[in-house]
Amino acid sequence: MAAAESERESPSDICSEFLSFSAKETASRWQAAADLQQEVYSHLALYVPRILCLGPSGGVSNREEQREEQREDLACQLLLLAPLEWLLLGEEPAAGLAQLQENNQPSPLCGHVFKVGEPTYSCRECAADPTCVLCMQCFLGSVHKDHRYRMTTSGGGGFCDCGDAEAWKKGPYCQKHTLTNGNRDSEEDSIAHLPADLVARGYSIFSIILKYAVDLLTWEQEDQLPAGLELQERGDNYYCMLFNDEVHTYEQVIYTLQKAVNCSQKEAVSFATTVDRDGRKSVRYGNLQFCEQAKSVIVRNTSRQSKPLRVQVMHSSVVAHQCFALKALSWLGQIIQYSDGLRRVLCQVALQEGLEGKSSSLVDRLMLNDSKMWKGARNIYHQLLMNSLLMDLKYKKIFAIHFAKSYERLQSDYVIDDHDREFSITDLSVQIFTVPSLARMLMVEENLMTTIIRTFVDHLRHRDLQGRFQFDRYTAQQAFKFGRVQSLVGDLKYVLINCPTEWTHDLRVKFLEGLDAFLELLKCMQGMDPVVRQVGQHIEMEPEWEAAFTLQMKLTHIISMIQEWCSTDERVLIEAYGKCLSALSHCHSGLPDGEQPIKLCLAGHSVETFRYQVSQDKVSIHLPVCRLLAGLHVLLSRTEVASRFPEQLPLGELSPPLLIELPLRCLVLCAQVHAGMWRRNGFSLINQIYYYHNVKCRVEMFDKDVIMLQAGASMMDPNHFLMIVLSRYELFHIFNSADVRKRYRETNKDVVQQNNTLIEEMLHLIIMVVGERYVAGVGQVEAFDEVRREIIHQLSIKPMAHSELVKALPENGNKETGLEKVIDSVASFKKPGVTGRGLYELRPEWNKHFNLYFYHYSRADQSKAEEAQRKLRKHNGDDTALPPPPPPPLCPLFASLVNLLQCDVLLAMEGAVLQWAVEPSGGGWTESMLQRVLHLVAMALLEEQQQLENSRGDEDVTFNFTCKITRPGEASTSGSVLALMESLQNAPHLEMHKDMITWILKMVANIKTMRQRTSSTSTVSLRQGQEPEEAVRDKDKAERKRKAEMARLRREKIMAQMSEMQKHFINENKELFQQSLEELEASTSAAAAESSLAILEPTCAPQVCVGPWRVGGAHHHQLVTCILCQEEQELRCHGRAMVLAAFVQRSTVLSKDRHRNLPDPERYDPLFMHPDLSLGIHTASCGHIMHATCWQRYFEAVQFKEQRRQQRLRGHTSYDVENGEFLCPLCECLSNTVVPLLPHTRSLDRSVHHPSLEVWFNTTSQQIAALQFYYRKCSGDSGEAEPEVPEGFRVDFNPQNLFSSSISAMITTFSMSTYKVGLKLNPNEQDHRVPVLSWSTCAYTIQSIERLLMDEDKPLFGSLPCRQDDCLSALTRFSSTCWTAAPLKTVHTHFFRLFTALVPDTLVENTPCILEVDMFHLLVYSVLSYSSMHCLDQSGRSVVDSAHLHLLHLVVIAHLVQILLTSTTEDVCMDQDSVGSQEEELTCQLYRALRKHLESVLPEVSSGWQLWRWVKAGVLPFLRAAALFFHYLNSTAPPADLLVAGSGQWEALCSYLSLPCNLVQLYHSHQTLLEPLIHSWCCHPTVRQTLQGGGARIRFPRESNSLIDLPEDYSTLINQASSFTCPRSGGDKSRAPTLCLLCGSMLCSQSYCCQTEVDGEDVGACTAHAFSCGAGLGLFLRVRESQVLFVAGKTKGCFYPPPYLDDYGETDQGLKRGNPLHLCLERYRKIERLWRQHAIAEVIGHAQEANQTLVAIDWQHL
Ligand SMILES: [Zn+2]
Ligand SMILES: [Zn+2]
Ligand SMILES: [Zn+2]
Ligand SMILES: [Zn+2]
Ligand SMILES: [Zn+2]
Ligand SMILES: [Zn+2]
Ligand SMILES: [Zn+2]
Repeated sequence: MAAAESERESPSDICSEFLSFSAKETASRWQAAADLQQEVYSHLALYVPRILCLGPSGGVSNREEQREEQREDLACQLLLLAPLEWLLLGEEPAAGLAQLQENNQPSPLCGHVFKVGEPTYSCRECAADPTCVLCMQCFLGSVHKDHRYRMTTSGGGGFCDCGDAEAWKKGPYCQKHTLTNGNRDSEEDSIAHLPADLVARGYSIFSIILKYAVDLLTWEQEDQLPAGLELQERGDNYYCMLFNDEVHTYEQVIYTLQKAVNCSQKEAVSFATTVDRDGRKSVRYGNLQFCEQAKSVIVRNTSRQSKPLRVQVMHSSVVAHQCFALKALSWLGQIIQYSDGLRRVLCQVALQEGLEGKSSSLVDRLMLNDSKMWKGARNIYHQLLMNSLLMDLKYKKIFAIHFAKSYERLQSDYVIDDHDREFSITDLSVQIFTVPSLARMLMVEENLMTTIIRTFVDHLRHRDLQGRFQFDRYTAQQAFKFGRVQSLVGDLKYVLINCPTEWTHDLRVKFLEGLDAFLELLKCMQGMDPVVRQVGQHIEMEPEWEAAFTLQMKLTHIISMIQEWCSTDERVLIEAYGKCLSALSHCHSGLPDGEQPIKLCLAGHSVETFRYQVSQDKVSIHLPVCRLLAGLHVLLSRTEVASRFPEQLPLGELSPPLLIELPLRCLVLCAQVHAGMWRRNGFSLINQIYYYHNVKCRVEMFDKDVIMLQAGASMMDPNHFLMIVLSRYELFHIFNSADVRKRYRETNKDVVQQNNTLIEEMLHLIIMVVGERYVAGVGQVEAFDEVRREIIHQLSIKPMAHSELVKALPENGNKETGLEKVIDSVASFKKPGVTGRGLYELRPEWNKHFNLYFYHYSRADQSKAEEAQRKLRKHNGDDTALPPPPPPPLCPLFASLVNLLQCDVLLAMEGAVLQWAVEPSGGGWTESMLQRVLHLVAMALLEEQQQLENSRGDEDVTFNFTCKITRPGEASTSGSVLALMESLQNAPHLEMHKDMITWILKMVANIKTMRQRTSSTSTVSLRQGQEPEEAVRDKDKAERKRKAEMARLRREKIMAQMSEMQKHFINENKELFQQSLEELEASTSAAAAESSLAILEPTCAPQVCVGPWRVGGAHHHQLVTCILCQEEQELRCHGRAMVLAAFVQRSTVLSKDRHRNLPDPERYDPLFMHPDLSLGIHTASCGHIMHATCWQRYFEAVQFKEQRRQQRLRGHTSYDVENGEFLCPLCECLSNTVVPLLPHTRSLDRSVHHPSLEVWFNTTSQQIAALQFYYRKCSGDSGEAEPEVPEGFRVDFNPQNLFSSSISAMITTFSMSTYKVGLKLNPNEQDHRVPVLSWSTCAYTIQSIERLLMDEDKPLFGSLPCRQDDCLSALTRFSSTCWTAAPLKTVHTHFFRLFTALVPDTLVENTPCILEVDMFHLLVYSVLSYSSMHCLDQSGRSVVDSAHLHLLHLVVIAHLVQILLTSTTEDVCMDQDSVGSQEEELTCQLYRALRKHLESVLPEVSSGWQLWRWVKAGVLPFLRAAALFFHYLNSTAPPADLLVAGSGQWEALCSYLSLPCNLVQLYHSHQTLLEPLIHSWCCHPTVRQTLQGGGARIRFPRESNSLIDLPEDYSTLINQASSFTCPRSGGDKSRAPTLCLLCGSMLCSQSYCCQTEVDGEDVGACTAHAFSCGAGLGLFLRVRESQVLFVAGKTKGCFYPPPYLDDYGETDQGLKRGNPLHLCLERYRKIERLWRQHAIAEVIGHAQEANQTLVAIDWQHL
């Protein structure tokens, strides 16, 4: 590469050209020239290779590359484009363009081209089809923002349809794109408004430049240039150009490049990124051989598994010209933005036929070469087409014709090409075909419908002998091709999506021609993928079934749309019906021949049918021709013709038995699969049956089969129909003779069961055939009724969310289900809480429309619905009969269906089942069977009742079921159906059905009365005839009540047993017993309040928690139980160690400075916590206690299991065992260490005198001096005189260890955990920082809990959940003793330094300034380290408690000073003139004292009231935290005032802490002692510096951190994210923009470009950001997915529902539904609370435990 460098022309050469070059002169020279093209070409030939592509551009840094690009752009503009602009405009370009723009008539179309990820809006009420979208600007300015709209994110490409009158039924113009009167008519020629000479120049320049660009983009020679562009002197410079494909992965490309061109991983990633984005990239520059060599390596390396990567070695001048061609196209696109006239000139140039005649225009040439071009080139010319041809309505039409003419060729190219559809010219079909007028025009003039279908069929070549599609053995390559061909179906959908309102003769002809083509396609599908039942052996290989179903699914909408088209024109419908019928007879041609027909006889009827058995012969689930016919049949039934002149209908070409044959086989197949007869055929068949019924397919599969049976049955003798059904179900023999049945029953149990299921299924089928009338055309209903019935039945199962309902309903081509129109009429909406979603509930008045045998219920749905309905009825005190709802009347064409209900064969079947049911035992019948028969009987009775009600006299009622059921059955032994029913009414084994039978018998009685009345007096309402039954009903009710009481008692007994068992179970399976976080909190917080009140009962004497007057802390024996061995254990210093499972983590929840860098672990000195609290260590616990030994054994077992797991490489764990993580054995809470539980040891000795502050101060100073001297002496440095040692203080005393070895070991264990987590270092017991980190987690945890209680307005004491209470208590006691594990000298040294922070000592260096210390941490550390001093005092005259109190006083003073120094601002509100209180007076004095030291640095504040207010507010969090600390340290009961939130806090707090309410008094009472201290605090140089603005100033109280504010409307976020570009790859759109909820940064997640290294590993942007912003913990919002992401460290993460809800109270993770989303503040606060509670890691742990797939996700790459 270095060699090539020297050949580059130095930039200065070009620069000198700039100076001498004049664009104006060049332009005038060109104008004078005879042959303009020749002149321009020779100019380009000279300059293009000198400006562009001068050498290697990859491999150098990003910035250099960008600078290079800018230089190229500038040179192109000045040397190449400027002369063109001069020539075109004839004047200074800037002025000329301005002139053009003035006369420009902007297109009424918006035409905004969407970026990837940009929000798009579609109106569900007004859009012509779902492809019509608006950009955000237009949407906000349109009427649709108040309609029901859908929001999605664009995949890139496509444009805003604002201003297109055809795209919108209403409101096509937004405020900006309004159609004004000034707008030119689209017919008017916009060119006429331009000067003629400009137009002429425009034509010639546009044609030269466009031709140049087309020539070069379609140029295929690597080493030659088109005529006129050849170089005079050509160098030997080549590029090795790598092209994009969709076959090879990123990793493969990166790996190959590293090998082939010897580049670093980073360079290879950059190459690969560019190739992916632009479609090509040069990876090597140099001479021919050098490039060829790289090419061969790449090809060799990538050709193993697949076709090799495409690589070309191209001469640098070719590449340069291609680059310029792209720039020229962009230039054209810009120029035409200035003038609609010029835009039209360009359109004309582009579409002008070339010399080669048809399809030779420049646009045609581009389109036909589309698949050969690289991505970048395609993008640019597609964009130009959208800006020019598609923006001019006249030329859009002409372009559409060109497009349609080349359609077949373009599609074929696309199928072979491997780029995604969005990069193909074929994708423009959505812009053209969805315009209804264009689509119609193309259909009529270019026969588009037929062309699309034929092209589609041509590409599916795999056929069997009968010409049907055959997918069973198709290869991956064919699968790929099949995938691409499917886009043609999409095009067909666009063409058909808008139904014509008017038909012309031509349209009819072309549509029917298209229908012919479509029927050819369906014929290829009819009977495809047939199956044969497998007996004996399992199938060896699952047959391929998905392809056929994909095809079916894709075509479902098309089939529905074709029917819709037919429905709008009677003539078309009748013709289409005829065509479909003959297609079907063609399919049936092979059906009836073969063997002799068989004759069936039953109940006095006989019929002939063929010999065919589903269980033995071939059967296919794919019958699209039959089903289309069924659809058309229903449409015919809705026409006038059907009702008036049925004889004119083209029925009867096929006999009804033939019509029903195939659908019936299909339904029998389903029944047999249910009956378990096809078990050996594997999952493939199960899946097919599933999809056959599934909502995505059923409309054009299952539903239509039922309709076909209804159509057939309505044309046949009902008895014949039923006998054929019986025979196809292979059940004929069972009903034919009782003997056969008996024999079966005695022989084979399996067969009996099979037959039982088959009978159930068959009875269900009959119910559906007679009862399903909610299709317009079958019954007299509207589409509205149909949808409503679906919803009623869905809601009868259970209340449902909006999205669940949408999913359960079929969508039409417009993705509408009709749900919205209906839902409010049948259901009421219940809003969601903080979790869950909003639900719709069926209103009670609709319950009576419930049909147990609703045909879209699966068996599971059915039983759920039945249970729910029975429960409901019981609850309402009704009987539990679930009779069929009254059915709507049938259409005339289907009217005879009702006769099925009363035909002899059905009655015989009903009789048989009832007869069997008389015998209680014997597997010969089932309750479902009986239930179905009862349902059928009830249907018949309802029918009869309806007919009676609607008739005037008995005579015209043809339905006479009640009469028929009184006739005795055929078999001599059985009685009539009615008699059987009566005898079953009281059968004890039929308790379940009793209510239903009663219902039926009552109905029979009713009808009898009705018949009698109608025969006597013709009009009597039947409702009146019910009074005598009142008594019966009362009796019924009493009986039911008694039964209900019995049932209740039984239930209670069972419940008691259950709960006993449950208790037992929980004890036995503790590991399994798990409670969610919230449940735990809710249950324990109440308990905690109780227990703390009970144990620590508040007394009347003031409670004091610190100092010599403190109360509490007496020895009380504490018993705890180990959750592992269940043994009880007393806490004792020398006993067995008990531990608490705990989780230690770094935290930035309280951080006031997120930008502070993480400390260097080796050198970090944690002794003084900075008041910005930028990084803390938090400890939490689930509160579960174990023996240390039990825990150790448990943890070893976990480790062992993990080792085994790793060996077997199976499964994942949600916790990192190597890092000491484990799950609490009881609650599975994530833990990484244990806290030892320590007994309380320090009792109070009231006999000792409490020294004053001065005395104590002096003693302590002396002690320190003595110790320091002693340590210096020990290290051999003793030059000075020995200081005075206080009496009884023994510097060399060595206290004995208080604790047993097991407790000491646990103290070390936990110390090491905080050390490891806090510093990210390997454990090192010798490190002097160990005790500091233990104290630190105690202080930080208390501080964060204090904040939490404050933010949630909870009382300081009594409101913490048990587990937190236990945790804090254990933590505090631990930290007070952890010094015993460290060398005394270490702890002493810490104390000395802490003490000097309060009492500055000029001799000690590096004392922090008072503004750099968090006072609470200082208090905790000094109190806890003081014990190490105290233990040396053997005088017996001092108490540790006095020291604590003095330390507290000192720290409080320091904190007051700190607050006064930082809180003041310049703008002090003026004091009211009244005389201040004592507090205010004293505060003023103190402030004045401070000002004395600092003078002008502190502003003057005269308002004592203001100062005192600041002090009080600023010190409160400290006092609260201190109260918590001493409460846990000394086990002092809290005062009653602090157990409730609200007022009175201050006084209670001060007295609890043994402080005066007027805090400043502390200062005044010890002024002489404190004055020098204050002086030295203020004189620290950093104080002055900070106050003058030199450092970050922390003000008190520190405000609690919150998550960032989110916008109310989610689309604001999407829009924000769509304009976010990746910060690393210069202006590229980020694919997964992700928002940090802690600081508001937007990140480019999940992408190579933004990976960085953290601790030697590549991690994605989110993980990297989490480390810097949240110390490893991150909360993000993935904007494009509408999903919250939690990450913890590198390996853990989970997704969490976003705080955005739609109007139905549902989230939309993945933005799939597109309903408008709005912020739900409560949910957002909940997430914030999780974060503040430090519960995120735990949430992740639980999520990963619950869902193993989460563990496998590569969180670190997000
Ligand atoms: Zn727009
Ligand atoms: Zn607009
Ligand atoms: Zn609208
Ligand atoms: Zn134990
Ligand atoms: Zn636990
Ligand atoms: Zn990026
Ligand atoms: Zn952040």
